[in-house]
Amino acid sequence: MVLEIVQFGDPVLRAKGKPIAGITDEIRELAEDMIDTMRAANGVGLAAQQVGVPLQLAIVDVANVEDRPSTMWVDGKEVALEEWMPLVLVNPKLELGPDREVGVEGCLSFPDITADITRAAKVKATAQLIDGREVVFEGAGLLSRALQHEVDHLNGVLFIDRMNSATKAGLAGRLKRLQRRNA
Ligand code: ZN
Repeated sequence: MVLEIVQFGDPVLRAKGKPIAGITDEIRELAEDMIDTMRAANGVGLAAQQVGVPLQLAIVDVANVEDRPSTMWVDGKEVALEEWMPLVLVNPKLELGPDREVGVEGCLSFPDITADITRAAKVKATAQLIDGREVVFEGAGLLSRALQHEVDHLNGVLFIDRMNSATKAGLAGRLKRLQRRNA
């Protein structure tokens, strides 16, 4: 089921997600609905806050973005993205690698707004999958960026918080209008 995506201005986007204690039918259904919602919006990731639910649950699917490749390693071995996407991440934690890269980023909660954001080029993620398995993996390229963007959402952090001040100043009018419309 496709859910409504919450936009900037709604306070739920600033809420820190509660850890998920057990993967119930309700959580599985929410994850399914989030996948449907992300796909309907042509996104590469979605956090539970973006459908109005402040929980530590996020979805990422970067398998079909040909112009922005990703690499994924599980237990140190490179894996095929299609076998792991969509990734449903319960209570994810990230360790950022030392290298940084700049890339253009958007957010389904900020329609038509994109900006260059500096992110770690590679991350190590620890999470539970929706079937309960604990997984440790590494991501680079768009996967690294998407993971950082989504885990930020789970902590109430938005990509505008990562913009440099000149970029944010340039978007100030549009952000204010969006915020007013959704507050
Ligand atoms: Zn976002």
